[in-house]
Amino acid sequence: MNVTDLLNSVPTGLWQGGRSAPSESGRTFEVLNPATGRVLTSVANATPADARAALDAACSVADEWAATPPRRRAEILRAAFDAVTARAEDFALLMTLEMGKVLPESRGEVAYGAEFLRWFSEEAVRIGGRTATAPAGTGEIAVVKEPVGPCLAITPWNFPLAMGTRKIGPALAAGCTMIVKPAEDTPLTMLLLARVFTEAGLPPGVLSVLPTLDAPAVVAELMNDSRLRKVSFTGSTAVGKKLLAQASENVLRTSMELGGSAPFLVFDDADLDRAVDGAMLAKMRNGGEACTAANRILVQNGIREAFTAALTERVAAMEVGPGWEDSSTIGPIITEKQRSSIAALVDDAVAAGAIVRTGGGKVDGAGFFFEPTVLEAIPDGARIRREEIFGPVAAIVGFDTEDEGVALANDTEYGLAAYFFTENIGRAQRVARRLQAGMVGVNRGVISDPAAPFGGIKQSGLGSEGGSEGIAEYLNTKYIALPPA
Ligand code: ADP
Repeated sequence: MNVTDLLNSVPTGLWQGGRSAPSESGRTFEVLNPATGRVLTSVANATPADARAALDAACSVADEWAATPPRRRAEILRAAFDAVTARAEDFALLMTLEMGKVLPESRGEVAYGAEFLRWFSEEAVRIGGRTATAPAGTGEIAVVKEPVGPCLAITPWNFPLAMGTRKIGPALAAGCTMIVKPAEDTPLTMLLLARVFTEAGLPPGVLSVLPTLDAPAVVAELMNDSRLRKVSFTGSTAVGKKLLAQASENVLRTSMELGGSAPFLVFDDADLDRAVDGAMLAKMRNGGEACTAANRILVQNGIREAFTAALTERVAAMEVGPGWEDSSTIGPIITEKQRSSIAALVDDAVAAGAIVRTGGGKVDGAGFFFEPTVLEAIPDGARIRREEIFGPVAAIVGFDTEDEGVALANDTEYGLAAYFFTENIGRAQRVARRLQAGMVGVNRGVISDPAAPFGGIKQSGLGSEGGSEGIAEYLNTKYIALPPA
């Protein structure tokens, strides 16, 4: 499909009641292509009144959807998986256009994102419960699982499909209705997904999508309404804290996937080639715009120069360009604002004495491109040692002992992902346990898997997405006390 036909197939209204509809305000906003800085299309700009209408719809079908046989819910999810997979090239190109990542990575995200629909279609029919005889023999204890009720998902721009399906899949499998507030920079993928879901047989009202430039007001309208029962958020820790405070008003269930500052440790006994391959993935995949991205590359001093030289060679060979061009291996940053904040972190580090091995600045010309960069000798006070970079900048810091490396890795308020490389089995088992993170990759630069629980500790979040843990986030536990059998 060419770009014009593709954009014409994407609904540009709000997705409400199983169809595309304008905002009650009649307002729209523009979606940009970050590789050119030009407008791709405009979409409806939801207001609080639109949000209320979406919640009315979600509530009116909530009981019916909860009572829909799990097998039927599973079949709809599976049909949606098949439909997304059949349109994989369309979804991939759409993500490349609105978010910027290179096409092979967009294709990877389609496979990963669709897999949440298949995985949770399989989980929908395995929602268990349990029974037990009360120890005193006074009765039977029955434990059943019930959908939490209407949910709100707030998603970020860096994985426009997968961050939606990771929430929609388990919610629908559990029997919950859902309203998605996609990121304002990348609403198109979620709108196309909603249409695909409706075509796959999802009843109107079960899933709504509300793009908006006024996220705080639209989200507050929903969270202040006691009919909403859950909010699932992926985004920055700062916004997550605000949402947690707001969620306290109606005591909402919450799932929070927040920021990260993943340490990437390379020990002297690592396999160098494997560690460099892992670093390229953990750092440069998605242009470094991932909460799991290696934020602090900590390298034991015996292998540091060899590792830094090899990584620099690989990073310097990357081809910066529009994601749809075959030659490109890294696309643009999402916005000029984001690009400037990456540049400011690099400039601050360099002013403090860091050495630039390659890259270091913005790429001149159209679009929001930034040079893939390797920095080393970064002084302790530099902001890049503590803040989330969210861009293609590898920040390398040396350490001497295992204790020192682990202490550096854990010296952060975040605790999402951590990676380390060693060929020593004893060290592998020890360090995996010592790292304060919700997810640890051992000799691997990518860890996400729909069948595994994704989630952080400390200020990186609450709850897990994916795996058998993921559906539990959308289920309440009810205890039914029965008389003795
Ligand atoms: P990022 O830094 O990745 O853009 P944000 O946390 O700013 O992360 O945004 C993630 C999502 O949260 C987006 O969908 C955005 O619109 C939404 N968002 C931002 N601020 C608020 C807010 N005050 N209330 C509700 N949602 C918000």
